[in-house]
Order: sequence, then structure tokens, then C-alpha cells
Amino acid sequence: MPDVHTPEQRSRNMSRIRSGNTRPELIVRSLVHRLGARFRLHVRTLPGKPDLVLPGRRKVIFVHGCFWHCHNCRYGRVKPATNAEFWRQKRQQNQDRDRRQRKALREDGWQVLVVWECWTRQPEQRLIPALQRFLDLQQSPN
Ligand SMILES: [Zn+2]
Repeated sequence: MPDVHTPEQRSRNMSRIRSGNTRPELIVRSLVHRLGARFRLHVRTLPGKPDLVLPGRRKVIFVHGCFWHCHNCRYGRVKPATNAEFWRQKRQQNQDRDRRQRKALREDGWQVLVVWECWTRQPEQRLIPALQRFLDLQQSPN
């Protein structure tokens, strides 16, 4: 599969990722809010600075970009045309770090949900059911 982003797009994407207010994140926040759960954002004291933290329920949610965090989907499997080895290592490091952070959180009694960016494209398919299960909620967001 060809690279789907120009370098300019990719660096724009990266700066959005760093800013921590990506579109996928906003979609997840809005759904969790509509499901009636209270959360805090980017709690710096927790491993990995989870995107959403539900302190009362001791649950955290990460919203991961498919490319940067190596999701096994069509977006995550994209191979950059240039600097392939650099990107491979970078993404591998992200994946290893994600794993360590999830383990640290679980050992500290937190439940962890990873939401993938591609789920936010059609939320009713994967995202909403995953959030309802994770949050132990039956009602639909409306
Ligand atoms: Zn994906």
C-alpha cells in the first residue's frame, strides 16, 4: 500500500498528536460524556499520560493513532516510502512504550482501554460498543 500522507501532512499530524487534542480524541471525549461518565484529561502523574481518566472508576482510556502505534489495520500497516527503517524503529519504540505503560497502570489497579483512531471513523461499529462495555453502561449515547 502506498504512503497515504505527504511529509507536510505527516508533520501536521504529528503536531496535532503532540498537542493532545486530535479529532479522534474529541470524538471519544464527546461519546464518553454523552454516555454520562465523568473524566479528566491527560493526567500527567499517570504512566503514559492517558487521554481520558475516570478517577472514580479507576479506568483510563488511550486514544491511539493507528500509524504511530502500529495498529493491525490498513492505516497502521502503511509503510512510509522514505526513511523506512527510521519509522519502523520509531513505531516499534512507541509500541514497546505503550505496552510498558499499560502494564504499569494495570499493576497499579487501573483498567485500561485502548481506542484506535480507525474506530472513530464509524463509531457505532466498534467504538460505542467498546466504550459501553468498558464503562459498564447499557444506555446509548444520544
Ligand atoms: Zn486502526
